[in-house]
Amino acid sequence: MSERFFLATPPRDGVAVLVGDEARHLARVLRAKVGDAVTVFDGRGQAWEATVAALGREKVSLDIGAAHPTETVGRRSLTLAVALPKGDRQKWMVEKITELGVARLVPLITTRGVAEATDAATARLERGVIEACKQCGRDTLMEIGGAESITGVLAAIAAETRKMIADPGGVPLAAPLFTEHDTSTAVLVLVGPEGGFTSAEVAAAEAAGATRVSLGHHILRVETAAIAAAARLA
Ligand code: SAM
Repeated sequence: MSERFFLATPPRDGVAVLVGDEARHLARVLRAKVGDAVTVFDGRGQAWEATVAALGREKVSLDIGAAHPTETVGRRSLTLAVALPKGDRQKWMVEKITELGVARLVPLITTRGVAEATDAATARLERGVIEACKQCGRDTLMEIGGAESITGVLAAIAAETRKMIADPGGVPLAAPLFTEHDTSTAVLVLVGPEGGFTSAEVAAAEAAGATRVSLGHHILRVETAAIAAAARLA
């Protein structure tokens, strides 16, 4: 695979322009030259072959070539609502769950949560999603939603969504949770903070239709729990 770049603006009339971090990566880090071949993707499932047409300090123009087949998504889209861990662990989690194909991440507001989803933190996470997509070949960006409470996220989710709350005392997620006749088109999994969900939060999630699911015998850190759920469901 040639180097991949994210197009914030879709191509028009066979031409596209890289700006900001993407332009700097191509022009300054990789020292691209006119005529070099790259791959570009629009974050919405479409990618193209492209050739460098002109290089500036902050802007790179590309001639767009053949389109790749549009990326297909799985039968059920997975949303993870996670009480975000701090710093590098947050960044690492976003990279891994993007690679695993999670459709959407919602920062979860919980009683014992430690990290706030500020605008700057969200922007950093969105940059992490782009970096992961560039690296792993994913053409559809993982969406980062606005911060939500447990009841808020459960109320906002589509009706045909299977709802789960990660809880060490729940039913094993390894068990077949989807029957042949299951018509759900989406899955939502709630993952709690380092201090765990309060019993009131677990009760509220269950009252809103979430099943308690276990990810194994050991107590996992927040990011490990999110990745384990993604690996089983995405
Ligand atoms: N002391 C906390 C407790 O006992 O709940 C530990 C919380 S754990 C570090 C962070 C979150 O990861 C939990 O709230 C839960 O959502 C999820 N988690 C961790 N281990 C899990 C497991 N084995 N099964 C299901 N969920 C788990």
